[in-house]
Amino acid sequence: MLHRSPPAPSPQAPLPPLRLATPPLSGRTDTALTLSTVARLVASGAALSKADLVPAARLARTTVSTAVDELLARGLLQIDGTRPTVGRGRPADRLALSPRGGHVLLADVGASSAHLAVVDLSQRMLARTEVDVHMDDGPDVVLRTVETQLTHLRETVPAGVPVRAVVIGLPGPVDGTRGVPVRPPIMPGWHAYPVAARLSQTFGCPAVLENDVNLRALGEARALPADQVPLLFVKVGTGIGGGLVSREGTLHHGADGAAGDIGHVRVRGAPDEPCVCGNVGCIEAVASAGAIARRLGTQGRPIPTAEVRALLAHGDAGAVAAVREAAALIGELVATLVHFYNPARVTIGGGLSAASDELLAGVRSVAYQRALPLATRNLVLTNSVLGEYAGLAGAAVLGIERALSTESIGLLLAQRA
Ligand SMILES: [Zn+2]
Repeated sequence: MLHRSPPAPSPQAPLPPLRLATPPLSGRTDTALTLSTVARLVASGAALSKADLVPAARLARTTVSTAVDELLARGLLQIDGTRPTVGRGRPADRLALSPRGGHVLLADVGASSAHLAVVDLSQRMLARTEVDVHMDDGPDVVLRTVETQLTHLRETVPAGVPVRAVVIGLPGPVDGTRGVPVRPPIMPGWHAYPVAARLSQTFGCPAVLENDVNLRALGEARALPADQVPLLFVKVGTGIGGGLVSREGTLHHGADGAAGDIGHVRVRGAPDEPCVCGNVGCIEAVASAGAIARRLGTQGRPIPTAEVRALLAHGDAGAVAAVREAAALIGELVATLVHFYNPARVTIGGGLSAASDELLAGVRSVAYQRALPLATRNLVLTNSVLGEYAGLAGAAVLGIERALSTESIGLLLAQRA
């Protein structure tokens, strides 16, 4: 079929219909939105008194005053001392999120273990544990473990505080809108399982499902100064995955939630190793801890990844050489991603990065050499600052922000009406 280019428009020709962006809907008469705005400004530290909230929220003084009183009455905010004011005015009440305003349950589930925790709305970690899980056991067994452990943790924290949200991260692609995993390669039986709906039912609150690497990316980004975004998180563990936090500080999911799912791209120089996805030469098949474990094994049987870490800790020459080769391939990938996304920071995390400094060193040398100066002149390429707790941190961000969202505050208002 012939594709003809359209005729050049004449000066009088009309433009095609263009989609102009709608303005952010203020809906300032909506009580839930007003309460959510005020609560989130306090939670973010952007405004901590009624006087500061007026300009920050761009709301009338009386509206702010009413909203603060309502949030105090409902136990979401508390008065936390005073802060001095300019001039001769009396010191203003300093506002804070109340620890009794709500709890958020967190589950960062990896391929072989899960970090579980309870935090309050003021970000205090109240209880935490780590348990072994096997994704092969399927969603019912794994989620029952998660539910049981979270229930145990709740029994150890102050009673009488409602659960406002539960957040779970899983090691595979997820559709966060529907709250289901989508064809996860290492998780048989999980495709389309209603993970979020089940947890929401169990704990009687909104539930958020997210990819585990996305949680790490978000946790890392929100633990760093605001100029460290966009942030690209590359996890190198049993598999390889990525997560992107945008300049606005939020996760970039893409059209179907697959953004950052970088384990199955191929880079120059990758050998023809078969991958779990059915392709050959995927970065995950040639440069992950799993790939190194296979390479160091004999007769096609991989050594345990714990043994890879032990060999690296002892400086075993074969293991170090394997990590260097993996790092060179990951460096190629990072250089490409840096050009595409121009992040302020690339964080290398996961078990292999924790086990060997060679990984970061190798990725750095290739990425800085391959990428052009404009994309790297301010780039920070480094290891994770939060380590294995990055996922819980990201889950806490999502959970607290969810608990203070217009939607959740609206539910709260409806419940007690
Ligand atoms: Zn693959």
